Amino acid sequence: MNEKSHVSLEQHACLVCGVTFDTGSVLLDRRLRASMQHHTTTGWGLCAEHQRLFDDGFVAMVECDPQRSGSPSSADRLMPEQAYRTGRLAHLKREMFAAVFNTPIAANLPCVFVEPGVIERLQAMVERATD
Ligand SMILES: [Zn+2]
Repeated sequence: MNEKSHVSLEQHACLVCGVTFDTGSVLLDRRLRASMQHHTTTGWGLCAEHQRLFDDGFVAMVECDPQRSGSPSSADRLMPEQAYRTGRLAHLKREMFAAVFNTPIAANLPCVFVEPGVIERLQAMVERATD
């Protein structure tokens, strides 16, 4: 569907999995020009599944390919739109994350981007810790 419309269904992209989902809002061109696509992604959010995990106290680790991701604006912060997701995810309880990485995690942070290999190392550590 390439024809333009004067209304558009607002969508957000999930920070964790990158899937776009409807926010339930409708965007309207103020001058009622047919200027918009039928769907407009306006920002980032969490899809229903990842919102539930976030509410349950999990932080998502999102594996990104550093070769394909844009360069981070600072050493440890990759902008969501620059992240090239490999599709690999792990969820970790916030307390566990803080213990493993020896750093507290902001309560409003739903996910962190990690390089390939980090999730495997982490799983090995968690298995050892729970043995
Ligand atoms: Zn999601």
